[in-house]
Amino acid sequence: VEGEPVSDNQLAVDLLVIGGGMAGMSAAAYAAREGAVVMVIEKGQAIGGSAVLSGGGLWAPTTPEALWEANPGGDPGLGRVIAERYRSAVDWIRSLGVTVSDPMPMGHIQSFDCVGAMFDVLSYMRRCASIVEDAGGWVITSATVQSLMSSDGRVEGAVIRDAGGLATVRAPWTILATGGFQNDSDLRRTFIGEHAVDMIVRSNPQSSGDGLRLATSVGAALSAHMDRWYGHTIPWPLPNGLHPPDYIRMAQYFMSPRSLLLDSLGRRFIDESVAYYMNAWAVSRLPTGRALLVADDHVRQEDATGQGIGSEYMDRPLEAAKEGAHVVEAPTLAGIAEGAAEWGYRDVERGVVEFNERVVADPSAMTPPRWRNRRVITEPPFFAIEVQPAITFTFGGIRIDESAHVLDEQGRPIPGLLAAGAEVGGMYHEAYGGGLAMSCIFGIQAAQVALPAAAVPEDQQQRHAAGVSQDVGTGHLNDGG
Ligand SMILES: Cc1cc2nc3c(=O)[nH]c(=O)nc-3n(C[C@H](O)[C@H](O)[C@H](O)COP(=O)(O)OP(=O)(O)OC[C@H]3O[C@@H](n4cnc5c(N)ncnc54)[C@H](O)[C@@H]3O)c2cc1C
Repeated sequence: VEGEPVSDNQLAVDLLVIGGGMAGMSAAAYAAREGAVVMVIEKGQAIGGSAVLSGGGLWAPTTPEALWEANPGGDPGLGRVIAERYRSAVDWIRSLGVTVSDPMPMGHIQSFDCVGAMFDVLSYMRRCASIVEDAGGWVITSATVQSLMSSDGRVEGAVIRDAGGLATVRAPWTILATGGFQNDSDLRRTFIGEHAVDMIVRSNPQSSGDGLRLATSVGAALSAHMDRWYGHTIPWPLPNGLHPPDYIRMAQYFMSPRSLLLDSLGRRFIDESVAYYMNAWAVSRLPTGRALLVADDHVRQEDATGQGIGSEYMDRPLEAAKEGAHVVEAPTLAGIAEGAAEWGYRDVERGVVEFNERVVADPSAMTPPRWRNRRVITEPPFFAIEVQPAITFTFGGIRIDESAHVLDEQGRPIPGLLAAGAEVGGMYHEAYGGGLAMSCIFGIQAAQVALPAAAVPEDQQQRHAAGVSQDVGTGHLNDGG
């Protein structure tokens, strides 16, 4: 979806949204449908962000309690909003005429009860953009924000930059929705740690902490748990890199909790069964930053046929081998161990045999524990994939309240400034409760805060209908309205 170029304009809108992904487009369309004139600024050549790279799984914890139990360090207020507003997010998407399936329980995938639906992300993005434009607003691509404008502590819009120059956009409310800081290796070093500096990124390439920098420039506080992130284990090496068409094909998703993860000495180092993203964290902290994923044909067939594992149907060892990653397949565990020895792994056979013995003898006494998927790895052929972590988005970020107000160090809302989506931090800590639904829900929360100020007087409504806004110059943005 292309926008119009920004040039040297002075503009005024009811709501300025920075970032045209799941959170930003949800906020923009919600406000526009209520009559607000909205401008979306998107850094990429098209809107959609990571949302359009995703599988379109709109899921959330079933109840706030389910999330609290798995996520004791997360902000309970933010978690409650996600659980309680999930159904209304599904209804909102459906109300736009976008295909969304009926929500179904998906408890076995996470360590807590969740509910999920699939929706057509691309249609959603297109529909949101047309709602914004039909209401007299703009969706501007290939543009970014140079700085926020503020006066007496109130954010009053931003200075926007694109290839054509700078534009000043005044707005009573600005929503930051730039999708996290996963693409910035310096911020990853600062907040996550040295081990994250070279980590592969599995996200849209634009989300590099711009919102976080803008927010802190006007006094915003950062959330707790800045070191947490969401990601997957993916095969290693990937000689041709990791590109968006590989994002779903290469991630091990629900296979890693059913497999064994061994370090270079053939030892387990985490309870693999709890959550696939925790497996990625644990691998990232190993001295080598890599591990060996070992499983048998039972796990492979489950994943290939999708039995009991949601919507991911993939022969993952085969796909990894096609990309040149380290994959070994053999009729015996000794054969797997021999292959893995070439990549520097010792005692692999012993590691699997020990696991099999313990899981039969006394599964509850295992170290590390194995909470679920207590199945022996015995069905040949066996396979092993060498894996590395890949980050999708950061859990730490801008601190907000339950209404999406950006908070300062004293916990007070910064007037005029809201934030939503992966930009926001603190809601997830030990558990991940979904990114798309969370972003949609907080995008709508933010739009609802912005709406009272966006109530447009009748004479102004007529100007909006004519595509001309008060205080607006005569540049491209008006032409594009
Ligand atoms: C492969 C993949 C699969 C996924 N699958 C799922 C799934 O099935 N279910 C689920 O819940 N989640 C999934 N996710 C995560 C989900 O996509 C994200 O959590 C969600 O998109 C976050 O929404 P957001 O609006 O915060 O960020 P995004 O959707 O990433 O949008 C952020 C936008 O901000 C823009 N931006 C960045 N900086 C600037 C700037 N300075 N100025 C203007 N614009 C800027 C970016 O270009 C981008 O368009 C997946 C992610 C990936 C990558």
